[in-house]
Amino acid sequence: MRTKLWHSRTAIPRLHPAIVMVCAAVWLALLAACNPSEDDSQARQCVQSLKVIESAKMVWALYHHKASGDAPTDADLFGPDKEVKEKPQCPAGGAYRLGQVGEKPVCNVPGHVIDRMFK
Ligand SMILES: [Zn+2]
Repeated sequence: MRTKLWHSRTAIPRLHPAIVMVCAAVWLALLAACNPSEDDSQARQCVQSLKVIESAKMVWALYHHKASGDAPTDADLFGPDKEVKEKPQCPAGGAYRLGQVGEKPVCNVPGHVIDRMFK
């Protein structure tokens, strides 16, 4: 009679404790890598604000037939009768420069860049 590796009813093989430990370690390392620092979190929020401003600029340019080189003011983009009611604020207290049509809005805090890739 042949010995089966495991019984057919218990088809799920037991995981070796070492494998479980390695998986847990990898999982914890991933969590640590994905956990943003305070700076990262603020930069992320800032980029969201910059994207809102960028969208508002595009809408403004479209509605008012603006071309590259035209620059909106705060009053053009933000207000009770505008797409964006209130100008977004940088969570780190940075100042925004709206820029011209075709440019991306920028924040003066280092690392607060609209194209920044977060790990
Ligand atoms: Zn910022």
